[in-house]
Amino acid sequence: MSQPALTSFEYIEAFSCLADQCPSSCCNDAWRIAVDNEHVAQYQKDYPPIYNILAKDEQGYFMQSDENGCRALDKGLCIIHRDHGEHLLSDTCQNYPRMFRDLGALYTKGGTMSCPEVARLCLTMDSPFSMTTGTLPVNHAEGHGLVPNNPVKPESGQWQQTLGALLALAQDESLSAEAILLTLQKLGPMMESTPASDWAGVIAQAHHSAEETSLSEEMPRAMAGRMSLMIVALEALTRPGSPEVLRQALTTAFTITDHAKDGVPSFQLQADIATHYRSMRPALAQTLKRFIAGEISRTGFPFISTSSAGQDYGHSVAQWTTTLIVRTLMLRTILLSLGGKINAIELPQDMLVEVMYNYCRKVNHLPAGGCEHELRQEIDQGNAALLTDLILMNAQ
Ligand code: SF4
Repeated sequence: MSQPALTSFEYIEAFSCLADQCPSSCCNDAWRIAVDNEHVAQYQKDYPPIYNILAKDEQGYFMQSDENGCRALDKGLCIIHRDHGEHLLSDTCQNYPRMFRDLGALYTKGGTMSCPEVARLCLTMDSPFSMTTGTLPVNHAEGHGLVPNNPVKPESGQWQQTLGALLALAQDESLSAEAILLTLQKLGPMMESTPASDWAGVIAQAHHSAEETSLSEEMPRAMAGRMSLMIVALEALTRPGSPEVLRQALTTAFTITDHAKDGVPSFQLQADIATHYRSMRPALAQTLKRFIAGEISRTGFPFISTSSAGQDYGHSVAQWTTTLIVRTLMLRTILLSLGGKINAIELPQDMLVEVMYNYCRKVNHLPAGGCEHELRQEIDQGNAALLTDLILMNAQ
């Protein structure tokens, strides 16, 4: 029987680990490194010292970590890799930063921008998201260990057409990032009510009629009593290992304006930074569009599958669309606060790469924080106008 095809992207095929040249090795961060059940059983049976440095939560087993990173590190070297070889590493460690998905009739391979090198490739290559073919690694030969959990099983050509249409929208140079987000917002519910076989056509049609938009003249209005993007972005950046400079830029870019009845503070972007963003907008658009395209390639969107953080992006196409938009807006909030702090229209490329991988480390591999979850829920439960306001910066 012939194997399903594997579709990949240029940026992840071009990836090569920076090893000791890496500015922030994946093993040194305090994040959740999931361990697959097969390796857990192997550690438990034959390698008790490794089993003893695992922890477990509702999502399953993961490597314990502390302020120095993964507990399997010994003087900067991974004891599992050093003492036993690569095959004994969990699938997460063997694969990272590559991410494989089983969509039924095909496998996909993307990457996560939480790795500095993947972030650099996605932000600087000419066409990082061009599709190409690839092969499954040995640990996933014939789909081993990949969960075929997608409710929609697209044919290979159908997946490529759908992804191609979405990526063309996400990277359209004639549209602003906000116009793309507004089009994605319309697409979520439309795709929800359309058979997956028609999605490519629906996306192409929405792309064709996408309209340019200007930011609201009211920008920014305080958002009393509702979850603010500033709070949601700050929640991500207060996770262990986030650079202090990003947190500081974010908190000093906003002022507290008043208090809602229930005591929830209301924040307003400082007027000079709001004005500054109008000038920064064209320069930041490319970064935001590449983030959108990167997330589409990483998550397999709009064909829903599971990651090590579960179905954290949501359980329906409409929910996934909300998550993609909210996470892009969180990134925009961080970037504009940084631009305001250093008074720059165009952030230096190395700074963009650094912000991108630090941000993705805090949102790509952990369950969504309570504030992000609350904001997404309010939008998904019928407050679409709130999302439109946030895209157009009526509310911050
Ligand atoms: S973060 Fe990326 S480049 Fe750095 S050590 Fe890990 S895989 Fe290699």
